[in-house]
Amino acid sequence: MSSITLNLKNVTADLKEGTRLVAISKYHPAESIQEAYDAGQRIFGESHVQELMAKQQTLPADIEWHFIGHLQTNKVKYIAPFISLIHAVDTPKLLRELNKQGEKNERVLHCLLELHIATEETKYGFSPEELTAYLETDEWTTLKYVSIDGLMCMATNTEDEEQIRSEFRRAKSIYDDVRARFFATQPSFCELSMGMSHDYPIAMEEGSTLIRVGSKIFGERVYDAQDNS
Ligand SMILES: *Cc1c(COP(=O)(O)O)cnc(C)c1O
Repeated sequence: MSSITLNLKNVTADLKEGTRLVAISKYHPAESIQEAYDAGQRIFGESHVQELMAKQQTLPADIEWHFIGHLQTNKVKYIAPFISLIHAVDTPKLLRELNKQGEKNERVLHCLLELHIATEETKYGFSPEELTAYLETDEWTTLKYVSIDGLMCMATNTEDEEQIRSEFRRAKSIYDDVRARFFATQPSFCELSMGMSHDYPIAMEEGSTLIRVGSKIFGERVYDAQDNS
């Protein structure tokens, strides 16, 4: 058995009921994705638009592609025709663009709002206060071609498991509050995307429904993907 197939089996065996695996294939070649596909994996995540488009054109049509990186508004048009879920929507402006491109393509674009809970000074994501303030505006309810299906977050990049756990716990609590307050009549709001190679077991214990695992399946990437270009 190849290492990708074996790694995939190991991660899949760890999945808790109610959690799905997004195999993060950024910077890995199409052949590696095909291998994971042949082993049964169907959901793949990419963080660069051009790389995603090239892979989408050559790989099996029934792959469910997720976009997990920072998405620039001027690139939404390229992925709108086929993308299944956009994980890290971080501005009202991006939501409006999703709506526009969804309408053009006559399909509802599904997305998650990125919640910024890590202590790190990352540039992206809604703070808990910004998230509530935005949802209170009701603007999002007028976006007919956008479905907000949940929240996404990243924990601080630290070895401190208690810190990671408390951040995931906080995200789950915010997710529950937001769901009760703004999405009580929308069962499609049901996803909490959290957990990566080094912290997905903790994320699942704290209520993740989508884990985003890359290096533990495909091996180390040559470049790091945090550049978000
Ligand atoms: C790259 C990336 C992942 C996967 O990271 P691994 O540590 O390789 O599992 C998950 N989420 C996001 C947002 C990423 O950019």
